[in-house]
Amino acid sequence: MKGSCLCGSVEVVANESSEIGLCHCGMCRRWTGGPFFAVHCDDKVRFSGDTLKTFRSSEWAERAFCGNCGSTLYYRLVPDGEYYVSAGLFQDHVFELASQIFIDEKPAFYTLANQTPMLTGQQVFAQFAPDQ
Ligand SMILES: [Zn+2]
Ligand SMILES: [Zn+2]
Repeated sequence: MKGSCLCGSVEVVANESSEIGLCHCGMCRRWTGGPFFAVHCDDKVRFSGDTLKTFRSSEWAERAFCGNCGSTLYYRLVPDGEYYVSAGLFQDHVFELASQIFIDEKPAFYTLANQTPMLTGQQVFAQFAPDQ
């Protein structure tokens, strides 16, 4: 599947995927303006365009955006190269919301009606980084 940022400078090609994961954490909300809707992609996802900029947001993750239009591009786990690509880049694709994480950091002013599994931040760390 193919997508692009708001100005079109950055293009992305990824394997087909229909599942969206959503993160309510404070960092994602500061970064995107709302919860972060992301498509989980393996390291075969390819980005092109010389306006792609990255920001190391923690010891284990980096976040990418378009330096021209500011669009959110992806969150990447640095050690294993897994990408969580912004669902908004793929406008012509049908997705299904599969999970919500950091539900304990969700502010009270919105609540999604979707019925999905939900994990707290502590549960996320226990599941994905058990030795921390
Ligand atoms: Zn752009
Ligand atoms: Zn987050």
